[in-house]
Amino acid sequence: MMVRSSLIALLLAASLLFIIYSTTRDPYRAVLLSATGTLFLSASGHVYRIIKSDYLPAVGNWFHILLVVIEISLLVFLAQKTIWLRLKPARWQAQAVTYLNLFAVLTFVLPLYQISAFWLGAFDDTPHPWTTYVKSVPTSLQAPAQPPDIYYIILDGYGQAEMLSNVYGYDNSEFIRFLQSKGFYIAEQARSNYFQTPISLASSLNMSYLDFAPELAGKKTFNRLPLYELLNNNHSLNLLHKTGYTSITTETGYNFTEISSSDYAFSPFHNNLNDFESFYVSTSALSVFIETSNPISEAIFSLMPPAGYRAYGERMVFSLQKLEDIAQMTDKSPKFVFIHVAGPHPPFVFDSKGNPIAIDKPFLSGDGIGFAASTADYQRDYIEQLKYINILAQNAIEDILTHSTQPPIIILQGDHGPASLLNRDNLEASCLYERASILNAYYFPDSNYDLLYPSITPVNSFRVLFNQFFGQDMPLLTDETYFSPNSYPYQFTNITSQITKSCP
Ligand SMILES: [Zn+2]
Repeated sequence: MMVRSSLIALLLAASLLFIIYSTTRDPYRAVLLSATGTLFLSASGHVYRIIKSDYLPAVGNWFHILLVVIEISLLVFLAQKTIWLRLKPARWQAQAVTYLNLFAVLTFVLPLYQISAFWLGAFDDTPHPWTTYVKSVPTSLQAPAQPPDIYYIILDGYGQAEMLSNVYGYDNSEFIRFLQSKGFYIAEQARSNYFQTPISLASSLNMSYLDFAPELAGKKTFNRLPLYELLNNNHSLNLLHKTGYTSITTETGYNFTEISSSDYAFSPFHNNLNDFESFYVSTSALSVFIETSNPISEAIFSLMPPAGYRAYGERMVFSLQKLEDIAQMTDKSPKFVFIHVAGPHPPFVFDSKGNPIAIDKPFLSGDGIGFAASTADYQRDYIEQLKYINILAQNAIEDILTHSTQPPIIILQGDHGPASLLNRDNLEASCLYERASILNAYYFPDSNYDLLYPSITPVNSFRVLFNQFFGQDMPLLTDETYFSPNSYPYQFTNITSQITKSCP
């Protein structure tokens, strides 16, 4: 993950070293200036944001550009022999290089130690792939004569209408009425089974609670690696593959839900930066170009994939708009289409019309208090982004229904609710009702919704679907909701009785 970022930093250092050494022929000057120059250019985004937030709130991106220009001018200035000699380098330069070497060794060894310790612990957590612990799932399905296309569309953090009205004071009934007018069933009291994306989706796609996880991984671990296997090798996808379905997905920008076993995966980009690289780029001098729109940045984008917030927004739009093309891939039917849209979950990158919002922070995709400046900011920006996602989702539903040659199955679902009042590590300090209340809407080709009910949770979605259309007789599980802290994802507490009450 960090390899590409390290290579970029190394390439930058080597280029600076080469340029300064070939012009000065002074090894000490070249090493000292290239090392400090690399450090500054890798971290100028931090410097800029500290100055902006603590001292000069009015400055904008131009100030970051100014800092970079000053740094480069300073390097050129100090590289002059006459200037350098005035600093009397003979007295201190050898010692300075020793300190730099020591610093370099430390910055290498410390993360290496942490990474090794994590991996050694991680091996203990997976005696077998976790999918082998998922119980009472059929080994095959009975395909109907004309198997319908299936769309499982996750809108990350999309809350239930009644909750949005109670907690956010926002009336989402127009969107709900749209879905109903198209023939959808809305589970109006739906809750999520879990509060964290990878756990929630691993559960819904495997039609099972993850109650085996605490025993396998331990309650005191933060190791989420076994969830990759649960998602990539999930039972719903495997069963549908066996039944002759072609699986299609789009890039989510979220490692856990990039389902690598899919037959087709569409991306808006030719190449990609992962979250760590996006963060690195957004704290470096490169961020001068990334988050603004100008001719230079457009030129850079054509050579290099966009990073951070802009890519985050582009993926959301791409995934929902791509459904028009996917619906028209009739030669690939029957299709199982899994779309994970990263919003309305933060970061909030769009206003209600889809105009990009400038965010002057290093790229982070977390949720909960601590992300936004305040609860009020979170709620205002969340609703703006939700309104835009409503527009995109409405168009996507229209596209799917128009272009499908036979009526499809569509599940439109939040993996959990929003988090303006959630403390991700503290159950008592959180509004559980807000986080648990989700959008959960179903479109069935026969319009028969007898097996659904208002409080259905995602763990039962595919059970109902396989019972109704694929000849199964799977028992439905009790609808329960579990909280687990962000730091200890498998330390589950059953909070089913605490989520029905609205928060003040
Ligand atoms: Zn989520």
